Amino acid sequence: MTQTDTQLKTPMQDLDRERIRQWCKKHAEPAYRAKQIFSWIHEKQVFSFEEMTNLPKPLRQKLAADYTAAPLRAVRRQISQIDGTNKFLYELGDGQCIETVFMPYKHGNSVCVSSQAGCAMGCTFCASTIGGKARDLTRGEILAQVYETQRLTGEPVSNVVVMGTGEPLDNTEEVIGFIRLLADEAGQNMSLRNMTLSTCGIVPGIYRLAEEKMPITLALSLHAPTQEKREKLMPIARRYRLDEVMKACDDYRSTTGRRETFEYALVAGVNDTDEDAAELAALLKGRHAHLNLIPVNPVRKKQDVGEKAKIRRPNRQHIVKFQNKLEKNGINVTIRREMGADIDGACGQLRAKRAVSDDSGR
Ligand code: SAH
Repeated sequence: MTQTDTQLKTPMQDLDRERIRQWCKKHAEPAYRAKQIFSWIHEKQVFSFEEMTNLPKPLRQKLAADYTAAPLRAVRRQISQIDGTNKFLYELGDGQCIETVFMPYKHGNSVCVSSQAGCAMGCTFCASTIGGKARDLTRGEILAQVYETQRLTGEPVSNVVVMGTGEPLDNTEEVIGFIRLLADEAGQNMSLRNMTLSTCGIVPGIYRLAEEKMPITLALSLHAPTQEKREKLMPIARRYRLDEVMKACDDYRSTTGRRETFEYALVAGVNDTDEDAAELAALLKGRHAHLNLIPVNPVRKKQDVGEKAKIRRPNRQHIVKFQNKLEKNGINVTIRREMGADIDGACGQLRAKRAVSDDSGR
């Protein structure tokens, strides 16, 4: 298959049962073929038509005329010597690159997937947003990250976090389609309870996700306890105000029965003061939610935040003090364990690095 073919074709992993059934009907194929095709894609998770050995060759050729079997390929892999984290840089059919991270845990292996190539949200501390958004990923391109990572590591994946590059609720329908396919009992059969979606707070997207009534965990990137401070770190806060975002989170919890997680990237001198801790405790009081403190990963960006502060993480002692203050106020809070510290800086940096070398090197 040539590169041009790949660019134009829909990933086979986009196909759910209904779409395969329709395709078989259109091509006058018997119904049992739909089951076989689904199994090759989502259960056996093959990346080539040649491997679909119980399908007649003409049928495989017809499939290959409409779809691509391998929507991505690994162009770089880094393995942490400290904790076994693997970071993959995958190239898509049109040459766009995305990052996927594999994290081995005692309770099961987790994969962090990207939902877009780049990101349009513009958070000041985030590397993924440096070049803006190139495009949305299809559900199959998101799914293929899980399948290919599982294949390349040889390890089963039991948990997925949609926390890689991109804003999932800026690509809501594809992300919902991805989640449905990942949970399909005839495919990967992943429990919805083992999935987490992280958003910067796109209010209509949170309501849309709640409508699906799926018991996935919603993680809200809070990063500041007040509207004013949040706006300085996250441009999207100007569009969706903190009070509206919190209301949408409440609705998500009452509709799905799942307690939300709040993510808070600690930036020294910007959102880590005693006053911030007190305001944060007041904001979260009574919600019984989980607060995850993330020591910010410095990214190479020339931008300043607020009063000319640079993006730096507070020292460990200060972070623990911040945590203690919140705990004293009855908030359930953890500090995110850093994974793969030896292989790369912040998320999105592998992709950003690639873009820089592409610009200058070719
Ligand atoms: N767009 C989504 C998901 C992708 S980012 C969102 O905003 O939630 C996943 C998490 O990593 C978010 O909480 C994001 O704010 C955080 N993050 C991004 N850059 C970071 C950095 N340099 N250091 C620490 N956390 C960062």
